[in-house]
Amino acid sequence: MADSDTNIQQLDPTTVERIAAGEVVERPASVVKELVENSIDADASRIRVVAEEGGTEYIRIVDDGIGMSQTDVEAAVEKHTTSKISDIEDLETGLATLGFRGEALAAIGEVSRLTIRTKPRGGSRGTELHLEGGTVESVEPAGCPEGTAVEINDLFYNVPARRKYLSAESTEFSHINDVATGYALANPDVAVALEHNDRETFATTGQDDLEATTLAVYGREVAEAMLPIPDDAVPDGPLNDLHGIISHPETTRSSPDYLRTYVNGRFVSAKTVRDAVVDAYDKQLGPGRYPFAVLYCELSGAEIDVNVHPRKREIRFAEEQAVRGQVEQAIQAALLDHGLLRSSAPRG
Ligand code: ADP
Ligand code: MG
Repeated sequence: MADSDTNIQQLDPTTVERIAAGEVVERPASVVKELVENSIDADASRIRVVAEEGGTEYIRIVDDGIGMSQTDVEAAVEKHTTSKISDIEDLETGLATLGFRGEALAAIGEVSRLTIRTKPRGGSRGTELHLEGGTVESVEPAGCPEGTAVEINDLFYNVPARRKYLSAESTEFSHINDVATGYALANPDVAVALEHNDRETFATTGQDDLEATTLAVYGREVAEAMLPIPDDAVPDGPLNDLHGIISHPETTRSSPDYLRTYVNGRFVSAKTVRDAVVDAYDKQLGPGRYPFAVLYCELSGAEIDVNVHPRKREIRFAEEQAVRGQVEQAIQAALLDHGLLRSSAPRG
């Protein structure tokens, strides 16, 4: 059969690149997620996120992290370049960094106009690199502070189908806010600030104080309703540690989005943990109500189901039921400590 007899054609390389980029960059909030993770991986102590029109027109992430030399930044925007792993073996040894696929900057650059200004810590030379639809347009020396600033203009300007399906500005911004607050609460030792349409939405102090961070993110009413989980609250089991804060049973929301779970430092979604928390309140929450919570779980890598795609936020545990029981008991211990559990006698 001659080639012309088939409908099956090879896609041109540009189309292939854009499709791949679209898997990493779904919406403005995915850009914010990738860039904030890069800033955290770069040891930043301050991160500022600036967005305009829900991030669809403009996003800027500025950090005071380790920065990049000119050679580094030129390499960083290439596909599959990373400073975080060198081969497949490194994936097995437990990763300290959040990103490691080496695809984010290249993918974001592919579907936007991207500018990076960066200067290595203790270095004397800054660099400004400009990319347009994945092509490097210029690399020049620039005067800039230590750290990295990444600016994205006109996200999806070259993928009209994608741009057309972005949601309303307020929806896109609420996704960005979700990401920014998520990383702020995960890293109380990093000062995270978010600005939208020239207004600062929140700014944390970075003084490694979870209560102060909660106050900055959620405001006084919620912060005052938060209870710490006691130190010795977790019974033995696959979960090595669980600490953090939960809200008084009367301070709830109709969405589980405020029940935030972190596993080994990663901001993830863990249904098992959420379900255990809700059970622990023992019907005091009312139907469809969820508490505020910031829960840091620590488990050995072997207890986390690795068959979940790294880009998915939902994670699972090897021993779901055991983890669930441990979480429930720890949360009950916190509630009992404050006399907030009706059904059982207080401990001790
Ligand atoms: P990954 O994070 O998976 O390594 P990225 O495409 O997100 O891939 O980034 C590529 C590389 O660029 C990183 O490995 C890092 O060396 C460098 N980099 C990216 N962002 C920053 C930043 N904010 N500060 C310093 N280096 C950065
Ligand atoms: Mg990254």
